[in-house]
Amino acid sequence: MLADPAAAAALPLRFATRAALAALPWFAVDHDEIVLADRTVGPIIDTHTHYALPTLSIHHLDMLRETPDSNLLLGACCAHHLDVRANQCFTPAELTALKRDLLLGGLTGRGKRADHTAPNLARDMKSMNVAHAVVLGIDMAIPNRHPTDTLRAVAQRSEATGYGSVHPRSPLAKVRLEEQLHLGARGLKLHPPNQLFRPDAWYAMRIYRWCGAANIPVFFHAGPAGIEPKAGQYCAQMRFYERPLRELPDTTFVLGHAGSLQHREAIALQRRYPNAWLEISGLSLAQLREVVTEADTSRVVFGSDWPFYHPVLPLAKLLVATQDRPHLRAAILHDNAARLLERTSC
Ligand SMILES: [Zn+2]
Repeated sequence: MLADPAAAAALPLRFATRAALAALPWFAVDHDEIVLADRTVGPIIDTHTHYALPTLSIHHLDMLRETPDSNLLLGACCAHHLDVRANQCFTPAELTALKRDLLLGGLTGRGKRADHTAPNLARDMKSMNVAHAVVLGIDMAIPNRHPTDTLRAVAQRSEATGYGSVHPRSPLAKVRLEEQLHLGARGLKLHPPNQLFRPDAWYAMRIYRWCGAANIPVFFHAGPAGIEPKAGQYCAQMRFYERPLRELPDTTFVLGHAGSLQHREAIALQRRYPNAWLEISGLSLAQLREVVTEADTSRVVFGSDWPFYHPVLPLAKLLVATQDRPHLRAAILHDNAARLLERTSC
């Protein structure tokens, strides 16, 4: 479909709302919601999602409750542009509101979080022919139960695989990892800018070693996004991710967001180290085009970062970026992730 470059050039890349993406040839609107109309696309595996982001552990949030609106952080009424990075779709006012929701909601348990539940994710997945999702826990320096709550919720859901998370500096890191493996964790999410650690730090290296021994991948938030505090941007520099890739060939690493602003460094690492995978959420169309042309596409996987973004946003970019190479779609949208999940199952 649309292999003609002239047709590709004619596709719109900027949309006033999420539903406006129906102007692209693969999508339609059904009951005011964007849906995938081209059923030759998929089934898809989304390797980067979260249930309700962490709150202080005194709050309880029901991750299994269905509500009418998924209330995503980039809302249905917000502009959805393909030619910029996903976080650049937010206007300055929307970005301020996002940060307030993440911070205040984290302290109070209120805000949009109550709508970021497993059944709501499953509903959004269905609209885009996403058959399976990897749901990532996030452990923070504040007392929280996000990883274990996530894993317990995933255990009730056939369409999801759960990854745990530990704070790498925690003296209880090993105990927590073992507890999470017991709860069914099939991977470990680590977030250097939020957890404020350098990926090449000795205390982080021992965690990657434990993951290799347990045959589970480490899923990194990788690279600076440009909207985090300075110290976080420093911790996320791609050059700090090389040591674990080089020294621990028996541990599989997924570089989430394919290095964010430093996608070229991430592509170079992925090509150099066979234990490195790239996940594509957050990239602009131009960055994604570089990933599909420069990286080893047998180790590139699809991700949305739901509940920040609806899966239609990265899916639209991938479909546009692969118009002249549609044979890559099944691999990036499904087969590579299926192999990764299978290889690292307990
Ligand atoms: Zn994420």
